[in-house]
Amino acid sequence: MDILFIHVFQAAARRFLSRRPIRTALGSTLYRTGVKTMRLTTYTDYALRVLIYLGLKGDKLATIREIAERFQISKNHLMKIVHNLGKDGYIETIRGRHGGLRLARPPKAINIGEITRRYEEDLRIVECFDRKSNTCLIAGSCGLASHLDEALKAFLSVLDAKTLADILKGSPGLRQQLLGAN
Ligand code: SF4
Repeated sequence: MDILFIHVFQAAARRFLSRRPIRTALGSTLYRTGVKTMRLTTYTDYALRVLIYLGLKGDKLATIREIAERFQISKNHLMKIVHNLGKDGYIETIRGRHGGLRLARPPKAINIGEITRRYEEDLRIVECFDRKSNTCLIAGSCGLASHLDEALKAFLSVLDAKTLADILKGSPGLRQQLLGAN
C-alpha cells in the first residue's frame, strides 16, 4: 500500500476514534486526540489566547480570572501559562490591589512562529523524526520523510511571517466579542 496513503488513513482513523473539536486561537478547528497528531497543544493555543486578549486590552490591565471567564476555560490551566509567558518576556505583571497583566512588548514584536516553536512540546509529526525512539523499519530509505519535513517547515514559515499585530488586525469583531463595551 502506498506510504502516503497509510499516513493519511492512520491520521483519519485517529481523528474518527476520538473526535473532540476545539477552536484554536488562529480560528481553525483542530482535534484533541490523546495521541500524536498534527495539532497545536492546548498549552500553545491558550498561550495565544492570552496574548490575543492582552493585545486587545492594550495598556489596560487584565486578570487571569477575567481571561478565563471570557474564553470559558480553566483558570488553573492559565496560571502556569501566564507565569511562563511572563518568564519568557511576552507579558508583565503589575502587582498591587489594582494590578494585573499586560503585554510586555508591542503586538508587532510578538511572532506567532516563535510562540509556536517555543511552546509546542513535540513538532516531530512522524516517528522517524525522532531518531532515538524511531521504530519505523524503512527510515533511511523512505522518501516521504523529506516531504513531511518540507511541509512542517512550510507550516512554521507561515507562522514565522505573522505577528500578534497581524492576528489582531485580521480579527474584526473580536474586540467587541471579547471586551464588549470595555
Ligand atoms: S520513514 Fe518516517 S515518513 Fe517514512 S513511513 Fe516511516 S515514519 Fe513514515
